[in-house]
Amino acid sequence: MTVAELKPVTIRSVQLYPVALPLVERLGTSFGNEPFKAAILLRLETVEGVTGWGETSAEINPGYSAETMGTSLHVLQEFLVPRVLGKCVRSATEIPPLLAQVRGHPLAKHGLEAAVWDALARQNGLPLAQLFARYLPAGHEPRDRALVGVSIGIQPTVAETLGIIEKRLAEGYGRIKLKIKPGWDLELARGVRATLPDITLMLDANSAYTLRDAEHLRQLDDFNLLMVEQPLAWDDIYEHSKLQPQMRSDICLDESIHSANDARLALELGACRIINLKPARVSGYTESLAIYRFCMENQVPLWIGGLLETGVGRAANLAFASLPGVTLPSDISATSRYYDPDISEPAFELESGSRIRVPRGPGIGVEVQPDRLQEAMQRWRERYPYRVPALQGTPLS
Ligand code: MG
Repeated sequence: MTVAELKPVTIRSVQLYPVALPLVERLGTSFGNEPFKAAILLRLETVEGVTGWGETSAEINPGYSAETMGTSLHVLQEFLVPRVLGKCVRSATEIPPLLAQVRGHPLAKHGLEAAVWDALARQNGLPLAQLFARYLPAGHEPRDRALVGVSIGIQPTVAETLGIIEKRLAEGYGRIKLKIKPGWDLELARGVRATLPDITLMLDANSAYTLRDAEHLRQLDDFNLLMVEQPLAWDDIYEHSKLQPQMRSDICLDESIHSANDARLALELGACRIINLKPARVSGYTESLAIYRFCMENQVPLWIGGLLETGVGRAANLAFASLPGVTLPSDISATSRYYDPDISEPAFELESGSRIRVPRGPGIGVEVQPDRLQEAMQRWRERYPYRVPALQGTPLS
């Protein structure tokens, strides 16, 4: 079935459900520490009777991204959703042009586009990964499992970090990522390598350094790292192009890459050698496919990052991560690492070889549990009402 042969959907309604879910463990990064994961779940209904789900994984504070739960609710409700209502689409790649007059807001746009991808996959009886593969050359059929790793936040001591790493290794994770910041980097890497010289290890700085730290960062080369993620400013490519030639370790860009054009610029300038693709950060799977094709054509290692998505966003990212051009382990851990329970079923479980099975059913392959959704919306309303007084989402019918 080619894209032109897909059955279209007509978008009848989109409902927004802001939720807050307690995290099993807080994820300390160089920019903060929240006990709850907030998100907006989008339920899109079609005239044909199919329902698609998407997730806008904005945060409460503008930490990772400039967007927040408040901006996302506002922009979705006032500007994005009205642009797609009533539209008949055969391909979710028709959505970005409809939203192009709204500048920015990639996380919000991603949630809406993701709901359309899910609806179209369900309408055509295809698992989402199979639908993605329709947009790629032959030979890019999805695998039934995605290779994954685990991310560990900043801990009080090296000993505590080692304890968590050993627990994750015992669970079966084959790639360990540690968050670092100034004052918590060399000592950490040295301590971990002294005990675990052979594990697949990478570090993520979340923009905690400047180019003046180049000499310091070069010392990370001693620790046989898979990569060093986003050492410099969140909006920078140029200074990374000055840092990468000074380091043997491969730099991976995350926050700085918002489009296929950014990926091309970063690679041409030599700012990095690896790309972390967060579909939400690049405004959706249409742009994600463009980045995938760019990386495939230029042999750039690629992996899928995470924003602590609930099962809705995680399932779609897992489908994308199962495509063979995603060549490095992705940040998509088992559900139990984040939520107990998640908002959807079934939960994702880690299998041997540090892999997670991609759901086989149509669309994202997981189902939102109405009782848990209600509870998570209630938690949002109780905990965060003052942040968006006029926007509490629409009732669950
Ligand atoms: Mg990162």
